[in-house]
Amino acid sequence: AAKRQGRNTWQWYRGEERRNVNEHVLLRYDIHSALRGNEFELYYQPIVDAASGEIRSVEALVRWHHPRHGLVSPGIFIPLAEQTGQIIPLGRWVLQQACQDLADLQARGERVFPVAVNISSLQFHRDGFLTEVQQMLDNTGLPPELLELEVTESILLQGAEHAIEMIRTLRGMRIAVSIDDFGTGFSSLSYLRDLPIHKIKLDRAFIRDILTDQRNAGLVQGIITMAHHMNLAVVAEGVESRAQQQDLIARHCDLLQGFYFARPMPLDNLLGLPDSLPAAPVA
Ligand code: C2E
Ligand code: MG
Ligand code: MG
Ligand code: MG
Repeated sequence: AAKRQGRNTWQWYRGEERRNVNEHVLLRYDIHSALRGNEFELYYQPIVDAASGEIRSVEALVRWHHPRHGLVSPGIFIPLAEQTGQIIPLGRWVLQQACQDLADLQARGERVFPVAVNISSLQFHRDGFLTEVQQMLDNTGLPPELLELEVTESILLQGAEHAIEMIRTLRGMRIAVSIDDFGTGFSSLSYLRDLPIHKIKLDRAFIRDILTDQRNAGLVQGIITMAHHMNLAVVAEGVESRAQQQDLIARHCDLLQGFYFARPMPLDNLLGLPDSLPAAPVA
């Protein structure tokens, strides 16, 4: 039943996404009231060990239950929130909620995973961000080892020195940082030398064509090899098929995330998941 519900939700979501393109202007005025009205919810998507399928962490992905537009995609409202600065209160809410959700699971004696939270560049560079993170850990009691932050290369455009310093400090706080959408930004590779990050997440665009485009596959292989030589783990985003899974295992990719394993889901649905995905034995 949960699976069927998930699928319906997705179809609806995709439909809304298309319709909402014309309604950006209206949406941008709504985020503050949406925060007050509790219209946001965090969904969680498992990230699995490539070789064993064991769930290793979850990524928090925000959803907006809009009273008129239905479920609105973060692909639409996050860029708007970044333009208007509303990403600051929204990002704070996301971080707080993710810490709270995981701390609650832990308090209930449930299995817990490290949770990866997406952080916008604006939020990351703002004064007081680290203090805020520390306060949320303190308030919720979540151990720092259970929090990971996902940032994109764009944090470098807004101040490379500061970004490096921030990630060093976070590392000192025992909070892991990953580079999200790796390979899609405009920064030079040399930054990888200087950022004390733990993981890179290969953008879905690279995974989509991995079986059909030789040059793309070569690029993916090269990135994985480079990352391993740098002691970085690689996560492949957007794995949708067993064939992609097998290909990425053969290329020694460390971690996999995608609809093939599980879609983003409400917190409670995490409780019903088996230790390893996919649950059904593959032929
Ligand atoms: P992202 O951080 O790269 O997250 C991965 C996106 O890929 C998610 O989209 C996820 O649902 C989708 N995805 C995962 N597996 C597959 C797959 O196999 N196939 C396909 N087609 N898609 C897959 P989502 O949830 O719509 O989020 C889109 C983007 O919005 C995120 O990309 C992230 O950049 C941003 N975002 C989401 N939540 C937050 C948040 O709380 N804060 C910030 N700052 N950004 C967020
Ligand atoms: Mg992400
Ligand atoms: Mg990503
Ligand atoms: Mg992406």
